[in-house]
Amino acid sequence: MPFRDIVGHRHLTSLLTRAVARGTVPPTLLLAGPAGVGKWRVARAIAEALNCLAPVEGDACGTCRACDRIGRDMHVDVLPLVADDTGKIKVDEVRDVLDRCDYRPFEGQRRVVLIRDADALVEQAQNALLKSLEEPPPATVFVMTSAAPDALLRTVRSRTMRLTFGRLPVDDIVRILVRDHAMAEADARRVAMLADGSLGAALALGSTALADMRDAATLLLRAASAADLAGRLAIARSVVGEKKPERTRQDMQALLHMASSLVRDVSVLHAGADRRLLANGDMADTLDRLARALSPAAARQAFATLDRGLGALERNAGAKLVTEWICAEI
Ligand SMILES: [Zn+2]
Repeated sequence: MPFRDIVGHRHLTSLLTRAVARGTVPPTLLLAGPAGVGKWRVARAIAEALNCLAPVEGDACGTCRACDRIGRDMHVDVLPLVADDTGKIKVDEVRDVLDRCDYRPFEGQRRVVLIRDADALVEQAQNALLKSLEEPPPATVFVMTSAAPDALLRTVRSRTMRLTFGRLPVDDIVRILVRDHAMAEADARRVAMLADGSLGAALALGSTALADMRDAATLLLRAASAADLAGRLAIARSVVGEKKPERTRQDMQALLHMASSLVRDVSVLHAGADRRLLANGDMADTLDRLARALSPAAARQAFATLDRGLGALERNAGAKLVTEWICAEI
């Protein structure tokens, strides 16, 4: 996919387009940023732009033979390294790819080694890469992606140029879900609101997960009207899940966004505003019940509590602890 078709990250893609046009793409790039925001898509776009047979001002045409092959993972000069079933990239695979870099590119102009989730490289594999990162083989570019770049060896990090990706705005996620995943706009918006800026998280939230998320968020808000602490903690336990595995932090983030979205709707009902403004208008009965259970002041406090819970998750607090705290405070 050419840079111009990538949604979001405009400043980074225009920077890369200019670098390709001027022939100044650094030989080693590290695309760092949250999971699921499109780093791998951009990495592949770099490979396309560098090898396109009919490039347009630093961007790939998207339709020539080279673009087509890269899009189908069949270009001999674009070498992807991805984690195996164990979640690791082993040293043998790295050596194998490096051996193939001893020759000039076969059909393309540049050989591009794409390393997905580079933090999955075992230490030995990272060490095997060092020399090539320092003195890249002729006409070779290394592009790594990582959501945990600090887990890479310092020696690897210091040999790469880092581009930092941010989270995607809700509108961008909606555009991608509608354009590339044939999702209806209303569904796309609901899922995007819960995804915390990650397309990957939005896609992981299928419609089933969405229904589960709404049930759990409604349950969480019931803690606000529970009489005593024991009752509130019991709710926290059923929200997090007493079985293993418990909800992950990412799951919990989505759940808190969902609960915030319900509380926002409750405030819309309190204000007597047009019901078409409801984000979850298809849950009218549940929202009416919540609006009766929460006073306007309680809704404001719930919103603030959920927001602080999200902040705590952001700072790596555990899902269970945060849920208990929310249920006690809400
Ligand atoms: Zn092309």
